[in-house]
Amino acid sequence: MSKTYFSASLRRMVCDRANGCCEYCLIPETIALSSHQIDHIIAEKHSGETVESNLALFCSLCNKNKGSDIASIDPETGEVVRLYHPRKDRWADHFQLQTESGTIEPLSAIGRVSVYLLQVNRAECLTQRKLLSKTRSLTIPD
Ligand SMILES: [Zn+2]
Repeated sequence: MSKTYFSASLRRMVCDRANGCCEYCLIPETIALSSHQIDHIIAEKHSGETVESNLALFCSLCNKNKGSDIASIDPETGEVVRLYHPRKDRWADHFQLQTESGTIEPLSAIGRVSVYLLQVNRAECLTQRKLLSKTRSLTIPD
């Protein structure tokens, strides 16, 4: 979690770009229990800069689970694999939403480590995504 100050205009830009939804688990801020957070994709401790191309909108739980991590161990291969990068990767290349269950299925090693580390399939997320899918109010990032 970052302690960096983000200007109001930068906050608005990052929020608008993400349509107010967590860029990892897709949950909209409007239904989250606590406010979404702007943070670095590559943490400052790894020389990540405070620039638009390195910032994303996180829900508080995804941000807490990610922390300053940039990679994890792929549970399938045991290899170190980088996490999903919302500015460099396409969500749909790494994840698939199962609308019936609300589950985010990984489609790649990057998807697997990100689903695992950020715990995007926690119980409350499944329920919320299932309901949002039914009302077609869940946005899959481009
Ligand atoms: Zn999230």
